[in-house]
Amino acid sequence: MELVRALGDAVGRQAVLSRPEELFVYEVDGLTHHRARPRAVVLPENKLQVQAVVRACRAHQVPFVARGSGTGLSGGAIALAGGVVIECARMNRILHVDPLDRIAVVQPGVVNADLSKAVAAHGLFYAPDPSSQAACTLGGNVAENSGGPHTLKYGTTTNHVLSLEMVLPDGERVTLGDASGWAPGYDLVGAVVGSEGTLGIVVEATLRLVPIPERTETLLAIFPDVVAACRAVSLTIRSGLVPAALEIVDQRTIQAVEASVYAAGMPTDAGAILIAELDGPRRAVQVQVERVRTLAAQAGAREVRVARDAQERQRFWRARKGAFGAMGRLAPDLYVHDAVVPRARLPEILAKVCEIGDRYKLRLSNVFHAGDGNLHPNISFDRRDLDELQRVIAAGEEILRICVEAGGVITGEHGVGTEKRDYMGLLFSPEDLAAMRRLRDAFDPELVCNPGKIFPTTRFCMESDPKARGYDQVPFA
Ligand SMILES: Cc1cc2nc3c(=O)[nH]c(=O)nc-3n(C[C@H](O)[C@H](O)[C@H](O)COP(=O)(O)OP(=O)(O)OC[C@H]3O[C@@H](n4cnc5c(N)ncnc54)[C@H](O)[C@@H]3O)c2cc1C
Repeated sequence: MELVRALGDAVGRQAVLSRPEELFVYEVDGLTHHRARPRAVVLPENKLQVQAVVRACRAHQVPFVARGSGTGLSGGAIALAGGVVIECARMNRILHVDPLDRIAVVQPGVVNADLSKAVAAHGLFYAPDPSSQAACTLGGNVAENSGGPHTLKYGTTTNHVLSLEMVLPDGERVTLGDASGWAPGYDLVGAVVGSEGTLGIVVEATLRLVPIPERTETLLAIFPDVVAACRAVSLTIRSGLVPAALEIVDQRTIQAVEASVYAAGMPTDAGAILIAELDGPRRAVQVQVERVRTLAAQAGAREVRVARDAQERQRFWRARKGAFGAMGRLAPDLYVHDAVVPRARLPEILAKVCEIGDRYKLRLSNVFHAGDGNLHPNISFDRRDLDELQRVIAAGEEILRICVEAGGVITGEHGVGTEKRDYMGLLFSPEDLAAMRRLRDAFDPELVCNPGKIFPTTRFCMESDPKARGYDQVPFA
């Protein structure tokens, strides 16, 4: 109670949640089978309040974790060890836009898509576009170094962050980097982007904006199977083209999407669809469209459609970005995996991923950033079925192992969080991990800021057992 009183002093009593029914929703993020109930949730409105909350937590020796919209898919925003959740959603103002320098200064709770909407009148947009962009926050994007379909051409969040203001785990406030993008010395902004909320709380960010291209064209290439669609990706990359996006949607996903509110008229008998987007100067894009059309045909496309207008283009993207939501039709839970493999090995790895899904008798589908080699095998399941849940976890581990063996990595954009901390050893030696810990210690020597994330635990065996984690007791709404 003393802690709750101190938090109330920091942000006002109305901005503190501490009753069980209020905390329930904060037990998870988008990874529904990892749960932890926070001790309290606070909703600060400005950076001074964030500082005051951090200091109150320190005084009561309670850990804390920042949260944006909770759309993360790796358990990053859950509060382990009875910590306090600092939800930044009320810090949602765009503070300044400078169209000449093409920058925006934002609070961390601004929703990703709202920034592009707000700067469109200046002929600008914010390029990183996670499929969750209608809900996720820029603070969460910075913490996860989020990508999206347009990462292929424009890069991930880290390529668009110029400077950050942060509340450090000891309650001090610092500014890292510089709006010019040329700050001398160590690249501390680079260290913080992708650090999954373990180095401090971002309270303000200066972001790079990009001019809206003169022309954008979106193609749907329809293939008999995923392997042929992957072939088209390889041919396109080898040709020297740099499309804005190259995304593949497999048959199960197409069928789920077409049966949902995201339907876009994709043929449900297609084995796979490649969505290719090209942008740039009008004349160049016209030539590139023809080039991609030819390459898709060479790879075995039975048909290539070009979006007739902006509305149809938006429908294609709504279908692609709504794919995870559409999966809700198949089962109550969805495990969205995230791993990266060298692009050239996509067909072989995808075949193995599907074989793993079949062997474990799981409903597995694929929708992914093919141009980046960033796979998202999606497993639809019901976490109340403990046998199924165990098969989901075992299949997920096998998928990660084959991706790493193929020269890939265990996450492309969703982060490590609690989900993959025990797989870090697949990629990193104890010495590598010790070096990472030293960086973390420099920011947070007492491990109070989002503890229990990224680094492996010794409790892996216990944690893989659904019963030991209490999943069987999780009430289902
Ligand atoms: C349907 C769906 C589609 C998705 N598609 C994509 C995609 O295409 N690409 C992609 O990269 N991700 C995707 N994601 C994952 C997710 O949306 C991103 O990771 C996103 O950046 C999380 O933002 P959030 O505001 O929800 O953060 P949260 O989930 O609330 O938090 C994520 C992490 O950020 C930290 N954090 C949040 N705010 C701050 C802050 N102010 N300071 C410091 N740390 C902070 C948290 O502690 C946590 O570790 C998708 C998720 C869903 C549900």
